[in-house]
Amino acid sequence: MNIQHERISSYAARLNLTEIDILLPRLAEEAAAKELSYSDFLESVLAEEAGAADKRMRETMLRFAKFPYLKTLDEFDFSAKPSIDSRQIKELCSLSFIKERINVILLGPPGVGKTHLGISLGVKAAEAGYRVYFTSATDMLTRLKKGYGLGRLDEYMRVYLRSSLLIIDEMGYLPLERDEANLLFQVIAKRYERGSIILTSNKSYASWGEVVAGDNILAGAILDRLLHHSVTINIKGESYRLREKRKAGIIEQKEVNS
Ligand code: ADP
Ligand code: MG
Repeated sequence: MNIQHERISSYAARLNLTEIDILLPRLAEEAAAKELSYSDFLESVLAEEAGAADKRMRETMLRFAKFPYLKTLDEFDFSAKPSIDSRQIKELCSLSFIKERINVILLGPPGVGKTHLGISLGVKAAEAGYRVYFTSATDMLTRLKKGYGLGRLDEYMRVYLRSSLLIIDEMGYLPLERDEANLLFQVIAKRYERGSIILTSNKSYASWGEVVAGDNILAGAILDRLLHHSVTINIKGESYRLREKRKAGIIEQKEVNS
C-alpha cells in the first residue's frame, strides 16, 4: 500500500467509511480508464459508501426487531386468501400507518397468514429505518410480570415503548390473568397515539372479555385505545398449511371443510 493510500485508509477509518479501503484501487482504475471527472469519481466513491451504510442500517434494524423468522409480502399468495383486500395491504406497505400512529389488527383462525403479514410489514418498516420490535403476547407479558416482581417494571417496559412499531403476536391463544391483562392495558395505553402496534389474534373482539381475565370493562378499555386509530383486517378461510397438505393429497378434503 503506498503512503497516500495509507493516509486515505486512516481518514476513512476515522470517518467510519468502510468501503473506500477495499474499493479505492478498482474505482481509481475505472475512473482513469473512463476519464471520469473529479466530481464523478467522488460521486462513485460516496455512492458505494452510502449503499454500504444503508445496508448496515437495514441489518441493524432487522436484528433489533427480533423477528422469529423473515417473511416478505412477495411470498404471500393473495389468491389463496380472497378475503384479504390486497390493495389494503399494499397501502399499509407505504408505512404511512406508522407515521400516523395507526394500529393494525390482524384477526383470523390459525394458519391464515396473520404472523406472516405482521412480519412482512415489520420487515418493510425495519428496512425503511423504523425501529420495530416483535414479540409474542405471552413473551411480553411474562417479561413484564418478571419486571413488576423485581420492582423494575419501567425498565422492562421500555423495550415495548421505544419502537415506532410494536408487533404483538398471538394475543388470545391463552386467556390472560388479571395482572397480565393490566400489564397489557399499560402497554397499549402508553403507546396510544405515540407509536403503532400490529396485533394478531385468533379471537374476535366480541370474545376479548373472556381473553382479558373475564373482565369486560378492562377488555373495553384496552379495545377503546387499541381501536381508536386503527385498521382491522379480518382474514377468513382455511389454514394455509392445511390447504398445502390437502393439495399435496396428504389429508382428505373433508377434514378441512367446515
Ligand atoms: P397465523 O399466524 O395466522 O396462524 P401464519 O402466518 O403463521 O398463520 O401462516 C402459517 C404458514 O403458512 C406460514 O408458513 C406462512 O408463511 C404460510 N402462509 C399463510 N398464508 C399464506 C399465504 N396466503 N401465502 C403464502 N404463505 C402463507
Ligand atoms: Mg401466527
